[in-house]
Amino acid sequence: MSEEFLLLNPGPVPLSDRVRRAMDEPMVSHRSAAFEATYERAQDGLEYVFTRSTLDERATGEGTALVLNGTATMGMEMAVANLADGDSEVVALVNGKFGRRFERIADRHARVTPVEVEWGESFDLDAVADAITDGTAVVTMVHNETSTGLLNPVAEVGALARERDALFVVDGVTSIGGDEFRIDDWGVDVAITDAQKALAAPPGVSAVFVTERAAARADGESAPFYEDMEWHLRKAKQHQTPFTSAVPLFRALAEAVEEIEAEGMPARIDRHRRQARAFRAGFDALGLEPFPNAAGPTERSNTVTATALPEGVRGDDAAAFFDAVRERNVSLSGGQAHLGGEIFRVSNMGGLTPEQVLRGVRTVGEALND
Ligand code: PLP
Repeated sequence: MSEEFLLLNPGPVPLSDRVRRAMDEPMVSHRSAAFEATYERAQDGLEYVFTRSTLDERATGEGTALVLNGTATMGMEMAVANLADGDSEVVALVNGKFGRRFERIADRHARVTPVEVEWGESFDLDAVADAITDGTAVVTMVHNETSTGLLNPVAEVGALARERDALFVVDGVTSIGGDEFRIDDWGVDVAITDAQKALAAPPGVSAVFVTERAAARADGESAPFYEDMEWHLRKAKQHQTPFTSAVPLFRALAEAVEEIEAEGMPARIDRHRRQARAFRAGFDALGLEPFPNAAGPTERSNTVTATALPEGVRGDDAAAFFDAVRERNVSLSGGQAHLGGEIFRVSNMGGLTPEQVLRGVRTVGEALND
C-alpha cells in the first residue's frame, strides 16, 4: 500500500483537521455578528503573528491586520497602489521571481527604479543606498525569496529606507508565521503574507499589516477600487470587509492562527529552523549542493530549501526525477522561470512532523537513484 500523500510544495501546505473542518460549517452572512466574530478572531491571531514573531515573543510593532479576499499578490498591489501614484518613485529590489513580481506590480502604478542582481545572489547594499533618494516614496522587498530559498537582509534595507523617509513594504509571504519577522526593529511599514504558506490555512485569502505611519500616507483614490486600503481599514474596525467575504476561508484562517498562537511563535520559529536544518543536512548527506551557496547579507531560508539538481538530472532529464517523486506520493516543486530543470524546492512551512521531513529526504534519495 502506498504511503499517504505528502505535500511539500512551498504552498499550499498541508492543513490540520481542525482547519479543514472549519470550512464545512453552515453558511452565514458576511454582515452577521457571527461573521464579525470570525473576522475578529482571524485579525487578533494575525496581529499576534505579525507583531510577536520573535524568539522571546516580545512585541515589535503596532498596526492593523487586514484580511483580503485574494492571495498575497493582491496584498502586494494594495500596498503599492495606495502608497504611491503615477508621480511617485518606487525602488524595487529584485533577486528572484517574487521580487520581480513586486517590480511589475509597481510598474503599473508608479515610476520604478529596480535594484536587481542575479536570482539567488545577495544585494549590494551600497547600490541599494544609492537608489533610494529623498524622492523615493516606497521601497519594496521580499524577505524570504521562495523562488531561490534565500532570506534577504530586511533590517539593513529598512534602515536605508527610513533614512530617506521612504515607506518600506515587505513581502513576508513565506517567512511570516514560520520565521522571525520584526516590524519595528526592521523599519517595516507594510507587511504582506498569504494564508496557504507558513500560516497553514487554505489558499484564497491573504493578510496585510498596516502600521499607523503607512495608514497616514495611504491614498485609496489612486488604488484599484477593490484594493482601497483606507476603505479596508475603516471596515476592519467593524470586523468586516468592504465586499462579500470568503466566509469558509476566513473561518479556516481564524482556526489556523489560533493554532499558531497555541504553539507560540518562539517554539514555532525554533521548530521551523530545526526542520530546515534537517532538510539541508539530509540533502547534503545525499551529496547534493544547495542552491545557491548564499553569501553576503543573504542567508539560507528556514522555510523553503532550494537544492541544485545534480549532473545527469538537470534540464530535460529532470522530468524523470519529478515523476519518480510523484510515484512515491510526494509533491515537491521544481525551479521557476529560468531555474526550471536546475533546482528542486521543498517547504517545511506549517505543521510538518519530523517523520514527514525524513520521508521528504528519503523520497528525494530514492527518486535520484531510480
Ligand atoms: N510572494 C512570495 C514570496 C511568494 O512565495 C508567493 C507565492 O508563492 C507570493 C508572493 C504570492 O503568490 P500568490 O498571490 O500567487 O499566492
